[in-house]
Amino acid sequence: MTAPASVVPAVIVAHDGQALQLEDAAAAAAAGPVRDALKAALSWAHVAWSRRFGKPAGLRSGEDFDAYTAELAARIRAVSIDPAPVLLDFARRARILGVSQGLIEANAPQRNLGHEIRAETRRQIDESTATARAKLAQAADLVESLQRGSFKTINRQLAVADQAGNIVERAARTAANDELNEGLAAAAEHVGGRLVWIAERDACVACLALSGHVIEPGDAFDWRLTFGAKAYPPMGFDAEGELVEIELERPPRHPYCRCRVSPWLGHDEAGALSVTHDWADAAADSLARGDLVGAAAAQKAAAEASASAAFDLPSALRREAERSILRGDALPSESENVRIQAADRLLNRIGSQKNSRSPSGWRVPASVKKRAERAVQRGAFTR
Ligand SMILES: [Zn+2]
Repeated sequence: MTAPASVVPAVIVAHDGQALQLEDAAAAAAAGPVRDALKAALSWAHVAWSRRFGKPAGLRSGEDFDAYTAELAARIRAVSIDPAPVLLDFARRARILGVSQGLIEANAPQRNLGHEIRAETRRQIDESTATARAKLAQAADLVESLQRGSFKTINRQLAVADQAGNIVERAARTAANDELNEGLAAAAEHVGGRLVWIAERDACVACLALSGHVIEPGDAFDWRLTFGAKAYPPMGFDAEGELVEIELERPPRHPYCRCRVSPWLGHDEAGALSVTHDWADAAADSLARGDLVGAAAAQKAAAEASASAAFDLPSALRREAERSILRGDALPSESENVRIQAADRLLNRIGSQKNSRSPSGWRVPASVKKRAERAVQRGAFTR
């Protein structure tokens, strides 16, 4: 979540930084040993090849070749993948961090709200471990079944083994985000608040459509919402291990999603009005005294007080999400085409009239519309 500080309160931006640090540490601690062990096997393969067969491009076969592939396969099979203890430890830390951050965001005192890891998180960890192990076994089988080949051929078979590290890293990031948001949701429930979805600034077109949306804890966000062409239901496993559609109770919405929720207690409209009224009285006094400069200053202060105290985070987030679509702020992993089509779709909904409003009620400046229209015509956002 890297939303600009102008929209997201500084405390939440700082909390997101802490969460990202924890997530990175989880990824490194869980996937690092797997990657290191694979690197060691690969470097053995390289050295042993040049010692026995010479140039990497030379084609080899026969007894020596078979002995070589058998030993390499054994080394790959010996790489141990057991990230569960590390992943569970980080998942627990993420949960505790989520609770603590949520209570701070809600201005509530710190409290232990329990940190029992969800069964779903444990299941995901077990499944990822099994998938990563299967990739290693597959790579070992591929290497061993080769009858002839060069070192380059061998290297190609080893690409499958590399996926093992990525699978473990993804599991680490997902578990950390899942449990962080679980903690944030527990804090919201504890303080009697609701949950507001905060998308990262360059979130995908699906996540941006949820930014600023508010639900009661225990309810679900509407997965049908997207700025893209089609929304996909979130999937998960039920108690029997069947893949089924699940409710979207909080982020992450998809792998590598870095959206988060925050407790939302509603904005302080009454407070804003009382401050504004104080300034209105001051302005009236100044006018009565004939002090035009003083009256103008008081009126300006009233407008500013009203704007800041009545700051409505959900509305601001929705507007920011639409801005992001119109600007094409995407991660490199999201295709430009998807973003161009999303901008086109949003422009159509906004309409071409002067001062027309976006779906969230924001009066879109003509300059913002024009830039987006040009990008759509060009088929590309200039970055
Ligand atoms: Zn997301």
